[in-house]
Amino acid sequence: MQDKATRDWAISGLRGSLVGLAAGALLALALAAAAAPPPPEGAVVLFDGTDLSASWYGKGTEPPQWKVENGWAEIVPKAGSIRTRNAVGDAHWHLEWASPAAVKGNGQGRGNSGVLVQGRYEVQVLDSHGNTTYADGQAGSIYGQAPPLVNVCRPPGEWQSFDILFRAPRFQPDGSVAEPARMTVLQNGVAIHHDVVLVGPGSNKKRQLYRPHAVEQPLSLQDHGNPVRYRNIWFRPLPPAGERRDGSADLARLRAGLDSPRWPVNAPDRPQPAVVEPGSAPRPETAADLPGDAVLLADGTSPAAFRDCQVHVVWRLTGPGDPAATVWLPGGCPVHLVRGRDRLLAGDRGPLEPPPAATGEWQRTDILFRAPTPAADGMPPLPPCATVLHNGIVMHDATTFPTDAAAALPAPVRVAAGEGVEIALAWARPMDQNP
Ligand code: MG
Repeated sequence: MQDKATRDWAISGLRGSLVGLAAGALLALALAAAAAPPPPEGAVVLFDGTDLSASWYGKGTEPPQWKVENGWAEIVPKAGSIRTRNAVGDAHWHLEWASPAAVKGNGQGRGNSGVLVQGRYEVQVLDSHGNTTYADGQAGSIYGQAPPLVNVCRPPGEWQSFDILFRAPRFQPDGSVAEPARMTVLQNGVAIHHDVVLVGPGSNKKRQLYRPHAVEQPLSLQDHGNPVRYRNIWFRPLPPAGERRDGSADLARLRAGLDSPRWPVNAPDRPQPAVVEPGSAPRPETAADLPGDAVLLADGTSPAAFRDCQVHVVWRLTGPGDPAATVWLPGGCPVHLVRGRDRLLAGDRGPLEPPPAATGEWQRTDILFRAPTPAADGMPPLPPCATVLHNGIVMHDATTFPTDAAAALPAPVRVAAGEGVEIALAWARPMDQNP
């Protein structure tokens, strides 16, 4: 699938860019990364550090009783959970949180809170830095269902980010599930879930099944009795998912139990995810500060082979002309960072919404790739798919590639940059599934 011209770009483009990389481009990027990035265009800001009462409720319809100071909101134990005034359906949620710097308690009692999307699908907030608990209850877990793929928890007191891409479940008039909820999560810029099919709401000790509800629901932040802090909370509605894998396959797998966890809820012996240093956040832009399990694509090709993986590219246009740069995912699935001035972030299928114009500014693109799943147990095969964020905006949400990649996997990732594109940094890391 990779043509010769593209291979040639890979060599000339990346070699050329390494000069720029050494000449201080990365220093500028590192300085720019010191401040949290502003919310992207189209985001609805729910907490900018000054006031919770405009966008949140506390108990009933009372204003929240959490402490707001220094640009953050801190849970006042027993003041209760808070919930958004907005009811939201499919959305990209962003927030930052910090567990208390003064460590108290252990297990579920240390820095516990939670992001309850739609008031019921919980992404766990917990101090999981050197603090062991059951795998499906640690920081970043989809509580009671899916442990994070890796543990990228920062030390207590440090700010960490969640980016949660959520597709709300849909129900039939008779109350049965038409489409289950799906979630993709990045913690500190590292993918910890990709397009996970939820089996129902989060629940403690015992599985809870779906109960029908409206597509749009408020989000809650949990008071679990620990003074966890939050800041920079916004959401951005997601456009319809577009060409992604057939939802009926999700449902068939859900009904067949294939996407149900094989482990009981909160099983203490479920294997723990690997601990991985997340690198700096906002995104690391120096080659010395990648996620701990990432490899640099120094000559355009990853030195390791992958199936499911995350690829991060920092790039910019350097002049007029007909720029071109493509990421070739394992097996040969392409995501075009730019292909002529009118095609940005397309695979063989266009992005979900018009991407922002590429300029000479540095662009940051994250690609989460899932390799094809073969047919098994009477279930249809799942084609390969990719989720793409460009400068923090979701451009593809588990968009499928139309052709099944025939190449043997695992395989390397390649980045090919042609004339008019400079690549400052490209890395890839595995996203191996949990047991
Ligand atoms: Mg919790």
